[in-house]
Amino acid sequence: MSDSTPASLPWIERLVAFDTTSRNSNLELIDAVADELRGHGLEPHVFPDDEGRKANLVVTVPAADGSRSGGVMLSGHTDVVPVDDQEWSSDPFRAQIRDGRLYGRGTCDMKAFSAVAISLLPRMVSARLREPIHLALSYDEEVGCVGGARIVKQIADLGLAPSACIVGEPTNMAVVRAHKSINLVRVTFTGVAAHSSLTPQGVNAVEHAARFVTRVRDMADAWREHGPFDDAYPVPYTTSSVNVVSGGIATNTVPDRCVVELEYRSIAAVDPAEVLDRIRGFAQQAQEAMRRENPAAHVDVEVPAQVPGLDADPDSPAAALAVGLGALDDGGKVTYGTEAGQFAGSGIETVVCGPGDIAQAHAPDEYLELEQVQACERFVAALVEHLSLPAEGEVRA
Ligand SMILES: [Zn+2]
Repeated sequence: MSDSTPASLPWIERLVAFDTTSRNSNLELIDAVADELRGHGLEPHVFPDDEGRKANLVVTVPAADGSRSGGVMLSGHTDVVPVDDQEWSSDPFRAQIRDGRLYGRGTCDMKAFSAVAISLLPRMVSARLREPIHLALSYDEEVGCVGGARIVKQIADLGLAPSACIVGEPTNMAVVRAHKSINLVRVTFTGVAAHSSLTPQGVNAVEHAARFVTRVRDMADAWREHGPFDDAYPVPYTTSSVNVVSGGIATNTVPDRCVVELEYRSIAAVDPAEVLDRIRGFAQQAQEAMRRENPAAHVDVEVPAQVPGLDADPDSPAAALAVGLGALDDGGKVTYGTEAGQFAGSGIETVVCGPGDIAQAHAPDEYLELEQVQACERFVAALVEHLSLPAEGEVRA
């Protein structure tokens, strides 16, 4: 191993080796981490999901006085996106170093951040902390921040009340104070099937869905043209997009079913609940039009996921902490969602800051620059130092 090999590499390799694609269980990974934590004398809290297939994990390295509340939380998700139909140059679940980069699914998004925190546990445990450090590992982030919604409640139930949380999603170690909300909506149009020579006897689910789709597009066009705007975002307004439509069985059959899946991502000036109300209104109008043709028709709206946006103050204490620990500060906002909005929504001052570039996340040959791993190691080590009491006899300025 050369001097430039990051100390956290063994843990990154271990975490990457668990195929925690969101559809799979994450329990082997959670068990391995929990064993490690117990080996350091810590008490991990493992919270299984309803089926017992996946789990969140929360652990606290208490302060020297035994206190477990307050302090700083480091947060990561354990799941990764699929590698299906992607061309990889090496096994995605075996981290491999090539040309100063660490390749593997989850290196960037976002197992390395968690691995850095785990590999620095011995230092956290042996330090005399004036405030605790917490680690939160969630499941199913990539499919709508499902575990995140629960973990913030579990953290509250444990009474941990961290004063700051850093979500280690890839930001190239810059502090990110804000991101848009993400909302997924599925609308099912149920009409009445008929032979297409007898159209008046049917209710055409696809055609009514098409009118609904254009109304969503009109709403999105209005945001694009008239705002509100937030120029700190690369796309400086609220967006919406219909991304999946499925319906119809044959050219000679009036379709009785059409499913439309859309998403919208709102900036802070747009209330995601109001947008959902508008979408429900469009669906309601479609249902009324369909029922004028046949009262049996109906339109159903489901919301598979809603991830709140993040909008921390410019002078947020969590941001000041991250900058003090060496994070870059370019004031940028990001268009991808994270669990940070969930943490912030539960009253914890939260920012996003982690190694790697989001452009490499989810892609084939996902990688993380080794230099980013080392920057993250310095960042977490600086956190431990920052939260440590002066050694006996040492006087700090
Ligand atoms: Zn992620």
